[in-house]
Amino acid sequence: MEISPLESWGVVKKKPFVIAGPCSAETEEQLFASCKQIVENTDVDVLRAGIWKPRTRPNSFEGVGEVGLQWLANVKKELKIPTSTEVANPQHVELALKYGVDVLWIGARSTVNPFTIQEIADSLKGVDIPVIIKNPINPDVELWLGAFERINGAGITKLAALHRGFSTLEKSDYRNAPMWQLALDLKSRLPNLPMFCDPSHITGRRDMIFKVSQKALDLNYDGLMIESHIDPDNAWSDAKQQVTPMRLSEILHELKIRKPSSDDADFVNQIDELRKKIDRIDKEIIESLGARMEIVKALGQYKKDNNVTVFDVDRYTRILQSRAEWGDKLALDKNFVGRLYKLVHDEAIRTVEG
Ligand code: PEP
Ligand code: MN
Repeated sequence: MEISPLESWGVVKKKPFVIAGPCSAETEEQLFASCKQIVENTDVDVLRAGIWKPRTRPNSFEGVGEVGLQWLANVKKELKIPTSTEVANPQHVELALKYGVDVLWIGARSTVNPFTIQEIADSLKGVDIPVIIKNPINPDVELWLGAFERINGAGITKLAALHRGFSTLEKSDYRNAPMWQLALDLKSRLPNLPMFCDPSHITGRRDMIFKVSQKALDLNYDGLMIESHIDPDNAWSDAKQQVTPMRLSEILHELKIRKPSSDDADFVNQIDELRKKIDRIDKEIIESLGARMEIVKALGQYKKDNNVTVFDVDRYTRILQSRAEWGDKLALDKNFVGRLYKLVHDEAIRTVEG
């Protein structure tokens, strides 16, 4: 897939690339005041505002619609800064282009639906505009990849992924739990794809925006999209997660921008040493898993020889419990150890059955 570098977008000043602005355009005054303060106090590359809002339930604020695009065009003209908005159907695309929006993004609720993505793709044929694709709501890397294939199939090469977290059943501190590994999986499938993070929709709360932004930059993300509003507490959508332009400015100043690598000899040596240690431990882990599997096979065979069922639910429960406790003593996350042992046990059952 041909993907153009971020620099080719014509709206990128620096790395990390930052898009900021209110969740929604509410009134012309709110939009202008928010954007003006952002532009005066930060160095963001592009402004954002939602014009059509995908709401979970009807009768909540669903966006101001076309009139908001005129406000956004005024902001662009007055403040001399590019703008972006979410599009969810061909009419949105047509209107956003008509009013001179510079960057489009596709929301999480659209990425899950290949019909929607195909319609948006068809409406983008022959257009040269950057398109950011947010991850689908559910953690399915194929769906995300498919959206890139469809939009790219329409000839769009200025593409970027935006990690905004995933809906999960497990209780968590996040509004949409980040799955850093899944986003990296997409990146390994499309190595040239710029990757952005949306800490606002990941956290759902303004006090966690800094931490998640820093984590993204530590993982070498190329950009951030942060919701910022002149009066966050009174915002018509996503009030809890928006920050004032002044707070946005602090966040952007405090973020540490790290280099992707270093040529310093001491640094290279130290990394080399630590990687060797990790390699040794991984070898031990694999050898131990191999040895464990041999014993599991012998145990399964012995049970079969004695006409006893292979799976023992009490034993399984005790394994999950005790391993999680052992892990906890070593400061390993209980969920992590739980997932690991489910995987090990699934493989044991598969092997014994086979
Ligand atoms: C948004 O950016 O305001 C939005 C609705 O985001 P998401 O698609 O990530 O929910
Ligand atoms: Mn929002």
